[in-house]
Order: sequence, then C-alpha cells, then structure tokens
Amino acid sequence: MSTEKFTILQLGHPHLRLTARNVESIQSDNMQNFIDDLLHFVSEVNGMGIAAPQVDHSLRLFIMSSRPNIRYPYAPSMQPTVIINPEIISVAKKVEKDWEGCLSVPSIRALVPRHQSIRARYTSRTGEHVEATYSGFLARVFQHELDHLNGLVFTDRVEDNHDMMAEQEWLKLISQR
Ligand SMILES: [Zn+2]
Repeated sequence: MSTEKFTILQLGHPHLRLTARNVESIQSDNMQNFIDDLLHFVSEVNGMGIAAPQVDHSLRLFIMSSRPNIRYPYAPSMQPTVIINPEIISVAKKVEKDWEGCLSVPSIRALVPRHQSIRARYTSRTGEHVEATYSGFLARVFQHELDHLNGLVFTDRVEDNHDMMAEQEWLKLISQR
C-alpha cells in the first residue's frame, strides 16, 4: 500500500523489526512536516493508528486516530493524537483478548491479549509532557502502536494459532455479531 509520500512496510521487511530511536528535535520543521504528512496519510488509509516505523522512519512516534467504521463499529471517536517518545507507566492486571489487524500485516486478523487499561506518558507534538489513562479499545491501540516502536507486530502476541483468521472469514464473523 502506498500514497505519494509513504509506503507501508509489510511483514517480513527487516525494518519493522528494529527498535526505534527517541525523537530528539520535535519542534524542527522536518519533524513537524513529517507529523503533518503522517496525520494526512493515516486518515487517507483509514487507520486506527500508525507508527513511524511502518513508513520506514525508525522513530518513537505514533498516531492514534480511532473512530467508528464498518470494521470497528465500537471504536471510540477521537481527535487524531500524535504520541512521541511514549512509555507505559503502569498497567491494569486484567488482560483481555480482542481482534486486531495491522496495515503492515494485510488480510490477517487475530485475537490479541492486551492490558485492559494503561497509564502512559508521552510528549505531544508541541513538546508538552502528557500523562493519560487509556482503557479498552484505546488502550489496545496504544499497546499495538507502542509494540511497533519495539520491533513487534500483533501476531507476535497471539497465544494460539486458532486465534488467527483471514480477514474474509473475520468479516463474516463480525457481521453476525
Ligand atoms: Zn500495526
């Protein structure tokens, strides 16, 4: 998948497996332009989120852009949020499995265990230090995107191969919900 500016790296590309480096100069024109381009791109491809390493920029930066759509009717609406140099400070013990997909792993859906809620710390695109609590779907998106910064994809966390489905079959399943 690609648009003018970016190509999404697909599973198997070695750069998806790198540990990304911290963003140092958030306020630079280069970085602010990159953030604008990535915000534009994630809305173009209808992503719930995208991490910089997915477009071959090995930086600790991702966007969360949850909104309901046909595939995730229960997704909350939010302003797309740029998350820079994120850390998870604490997690709820409770772990839940739910369906995930990824622009870098096309046509596959899987049940992935994630902490039900998390407390996180990150820097905003204006350089502010932010602490926030996320639960449910947004906690899931945050954990999924943070994994990309550490060279992980969601299929790495699948506990049982029976928890994986072709998207075509998954769409049948959720349409019966
Ligand atoms: Zn992903």
